[in-house]
Amino acid sequence: MSKNDIGIDLGTVNILIYQKKRGIVVQEPSVVAISKNTKEILAIGNEARQMLGKTPGDIIALRPMKDGVIAEYRITEAILKHLVKRIIKGTLIKPNVVVCVPARLTGVERRAVIETTLNAGARRVYLISEPIAAAIGAGINIREPFGNMVIDIGGGTTDIAIISLGGIVVSDSIKIGGNKFDEAIIKYVKRKYKIIIGEATAENVKISIGKAYNIGEDKEMLIKGREMVSGLPYETTITSSEILEALRDSLEMLIVKVKGVLEKAPPELSADIIDKGIVLTGGASLLEGMDELIRNATGVDVIRVDEPITCVAKGAGLSLEDPELLERVSMSYAT
Ligand code: ADP
Ligand code: MG
Repeated sequence: MSKNDIGIDLGTVNILIYQKKRGIVVQEPSVVAISKNTKEILAIGNEARQMLGKTPGDIIALRPMKDGVIAEYRITEAILKHLVKRIIKGTLIKPNVVVCVPARLTGVERRAVIETTLNAGARRVYLISEPIAAAIGAGINIREPFGNMVIDIGGGTTDIAIISLGGIVVSDSIKIGGNKFDEAIIKYVKRKYKIIIGEATAENVKISIGKAYNIGEDKEMLIKGREMVSGLPYETTITSSEILEALRDSLEMLIVKVKGVLEKAPPELSADIIDKGIVLTGGASLLEGMDELIRNATGVDVIRVDEPITCVAKGAGLSLEDPELLERVSMSYAT
């Protein structure tokens, strides 16, 4: 183990890296800009994100992670290589790397993540399941024989898991998360106001005035888009209750999944969850009223972690500082 060791959360929307003893050292959108002709990577992260939707013909900006898994291995490898180099700055000691992966990754997919990370410059690679990393990041002592339930509402997916004794007992995943919420807002505005708005606008509205439950004041916001019939720029105001209306179907599906996992929990673990509450993490858990929505639907207390966007990476990093814990929670390499 060395001071260069890092934990990586390769999210659909954000890539985060936690370095031993230093904390979060990278937090960038999972976007790259590549040249169409030479396939060369021109920019990554924030810089590439600014090119999304605005790129000239010979540059494409893309997100190499889809629905929580790597869709473009070669590009992911290049990103990791770039970030690892940035972190270890000239030292020759290769880092040990903990990579967080979805709970239901197949053996072949695990192998591919390991290869990608090794090619990017890692000495040893450990895989740990995202819900476990989230729980560690949230400060839960996962070695205890108590059931804990974690709901991670990210960009591409929501991952729900019940863990006990360092392992996953029940889990499920649904392709609903922050991106789906943005899409739903775009559709709603298109249907109701006949205006086309972009993804960035939709995300902005969601973060600024969106809510998942009917609490708090009804805020409003001016949005700008393109009128469908005339094709001209147009603006209108939209309110929090309209956003809630737009998100209703997605939120309902999410709740059905959450209840499904709770129903599959062994009774002893259900009892623990009732005592301790459900831990909520992931960027989209920041949507106002998300905790209240889940609390109301399940009757179980819901605790949103303090820093839901960095929680998984933090958990990965903390596991590096505790070799016995890492041994316990890392997944096998076998395919
Ligand atoms: P992933 O792990 O899939 O990369 P994250 O956990 O980083 O995803 O969450 C990204 C999502 O969180 C995005 O869809 C983003 O719009 C959403 N998000 C971030 N901040 C907020 C906020 N304050 N309110 C609502 N959604 C938010
Ligand atoms: Mg995530």
